[in-house]
Amino acid sequence: MQTTFNPTATTTILSHVPGYPRMGAARELKFALERHWRGEIDEAALQAVGRQLRARHWEEQRLAGLDFVSVGDFAYYDQVANHIQLLGCEPARYGFSPQQSELSRYFRMARGAATAPAPGHSSGCGHSQCQHEAQDGAPAADAALEMSKWFDTNYHYLLPEFSAETSFALASRRLFEEVEEAQALGHPVKAVLLGPLSFLWLGKVRGTQPFERLELLERLLPVYGALLSRLKQQGVSWVQIDEPILGLDLPPAWRSAFETAYWQLNQAGAQLLLATYFSPLEENLSLACRLPVAGLHVDGVRAAHELTSIADWLPVHKVLSVGIVDGRNIWRCDLDAALAMLQPLLAKRQGKLWLSTSCSLLHVPYTLAAEPQLDPEVRPWLAFAHEKLAELAVLKQALQGAADPAALAASRTALASRAHSLRLQQPALRARLAALPADADQRPSPFALRQPQQQARLQLPAFPTTTIGSFPQTPAIRAARAAYKRGELDSATYAQRMRAEIADAVQRQEALGLDVLVHGEAERNDMVEYFGEQLEGFLFSSHGWVQSYGSRCVKPPILFGDVRRPQAMTVDWTVYTQSLTDKPVKGMLTGPVTILQWSFVREDQPRRDTALQLALAIRDEVADLQQAGIAIIQIDEPAVREGLPLRRSRWDAYLDWATRAFRIAASAAADATQIHTHICYAEFNEILPQIAAMDADVITIETSRSDAELLQALRRFPYPNQIGPGVYDIHSPRVPAQAEMVSLLQRAASVVPPANLWVNPDCGLKTRGWTETESALRNMVAAARQLRAEL
Ligand code: GLN
Ligand code: ZN
Repeated sequence: MQTTFNPTATTTILSHVPGYPRMGAARELKFALERHWRGEIDEAALQAVGRQLRARHWEEQRLAGLDFVSVGDFAYYDQVANHIQLLGCEPARYGFSPQQSELSRYFRMARGAATAPAPGHSSGCGHSQCQHEAQDGAPAADAALEMSKWFDTNYHYLLPEFSAETSFALASRRLFEEVEEAQALGHPVKAVLLGPLSFLWLGKVRGTQPFERLELLERLLPVYGALLSRLKQQGVSWVQIDEPILGLDLPPAWRSAFETAYWQLNQAGAQLLLATYFSPLEENLSLACRLPVAGLHVDGVRAAHELTSIADWLPVHKVLSVGIVDGRNIWRCDLDAALAMLQPLLAKRQGKLWLSTSCSLLHVPYTLAAEPQLDPEVRPWLAFAHEKLAELAVLKQALQGAADPAALAASRTALASRAHSLRLQQPALRARLAALPADADQRPSPFALRQPQQQARLQLPAFPTTTIGSFPQTPAIRAARAAYKRGELDSATYAQRMRAEIADAVQRQEALGLDVLVHGEAERNDMVEYFGEQLEGFLFSSHGWVQSYGSRCVKPPILFGDVRRPQAMTVDWTVYTQSLTDKPVKGMLTGPVTILQWSFVREDQPRRDTALQLALAIRDEVADLQQAGIAIIQIDEPAVREGLPLRRSRWDAYLDWATRAFRIAASAAADATQIHTHICYAEFNEILPQIAAMDADVITIETSRSDAELLQALRRFPYPNQIGPGVYDIHSPRVPAQAEMVSLLQRAASVVPPANLWVNPDCGLKTRGWTETESALRNMVAAARQLRAEL
């Protein structure tokens, strides 16, 4: 029997969200920002758009019945960047003058100097933006702040920079003004702040002196204190203070710093709701429960198993905010299951409980109302940000003893329809997976035996040259694809246009003297979407945009059912390309882990199982390409590194299935078929052995921006197969000199046997123009030839 709680007069259930999306349902902020950056609208006009959006989003929260609106989650670029200004720690290297407006300084930090090229960041690329690093590794004075992924999301934040000289001061009125705005509209306000420890943790140490950023805490806390007093003076009743790092493996010094910090912050007298999300608290659970704050918000989805202990540990005078509705995914909440979880908690908390989404809704699209054409069977299974607010309202009413039977019934019907849908279970696929032999993830022979067979077939020179897959997506290509999508171009004409692009790319590659050619990916808008659109089990929204960074949004595919490949996806384009040249053409696929990582995926089965289904689909494509005579196949896995769980204790389990999924996809290849993989970040030094366990014949990786680190890692763990350390950074239009690339290759040759070295750029070239691409590749081929001559 579960404990239930009979609502009484003392029951207090309040609801809120840790944050709301900020871009606008029609991406109004994106368009206003880009117009402002082009000089078409001034700051005042941009700010008017910001104000309108905030007002609308607060109103939506209130109309949905939330008890507070969140203020402080809005940002013109990034919430961490807001804190850099709020806390007065803009890096001195920018040399800002007092005349410069706050917003112009903000965009300078976010985007670098106005003369800098637009960040060459494609939606399908895991890279941070081009940093214009100066030679010594320090950023140029005007370079943008570095970007990094926000925990395990696809949102990128801007890194604060710290040095021993960093000082802090309450330096921006933005937050206070937004509070006034919300108050003027009559809303009860909950202010949202990033906590001091997470702020320091997320930053980057700059400067030459060895220095521990935790040392800055003492200087930072008085500013937080002043900030909290100010909010209290404004009449803000609650301040949500986010410390998501409580879900990470923290060094002891950081854990104990929490105690001192929060004792001090408590003096300001504001009511603090300490918020954690994305991860269970584990060994930080009792710490989080005993910090002197008025309330604790926890992720009720990812830390569901901890809710009972938290409800026990957290002193009963404190508020417990349970993030019961998933803020990271787009599935409708199982309201009955949620209520069954909440009832006993409510009893333990003596009738006092707050309801919320697990984390900020920044990570999901706005509303299903914008998706009338979505598959009618699947649509009712979903809930975007706006629908999640409504779910909170239904839960709140039910807990208060005033359940809305119609709403609960609608939820049950939708869940039942989902559970029984034939599209969730493809029996043939499941049978095939169950019968997969144990060695399905093994190539027929080990690399040492494959290598000579591939060499005999391919006859490549030493230091073979190739590219990562995509070539410049010219306006003509984009226009043709868009016209085809709109139905204005018939498929024959479209195919003809794309073939012409391929022929052009082949001709250019032959003229450059590259050894292994690619078709150039002209037909792909995005490396995940292209495959998702051809696989069963995927769905695409029309407006399901989610902020990636700044004004950039991505529209992740929705992977709702079993994945099946009804027919070959890339064979025609690849075979056509091969027909144009005697050089080997490399087939180009996206790997299972990357497709998984960059989609909204089903939560009714483990991610591992979904990855396996994707692996089978890619495996069949590998088999078809091979059958069609393609000798080299690249399976891109740029997202393998970012899929790492937040806690190290879970790394092994993840790497185990992730690398197995890749091997299952790759192992349809015979010994003489060469499998390549590409990984964007070089920051996987710690997991190099597991990356090696993917057993690709050739791996290409980013190197040019972090050459020293990679070489060091390769010294510690000699990579067993062939490797193409990217010899130049494709994120900048800069054309690298031949000598530069020769020197990088020579350094690489000191840790990789020269017979195993490939020569290629860092990543795909889709965001570049042809002129700089051809110049850079010309120098790259010359560099390879110089090395061959010196052999
Ligand atoms: N093959 C892809 C391309 O060249 C790889 C992109 C990526 O690594 N993100 O565009
Ligand atoms: Zn890449």
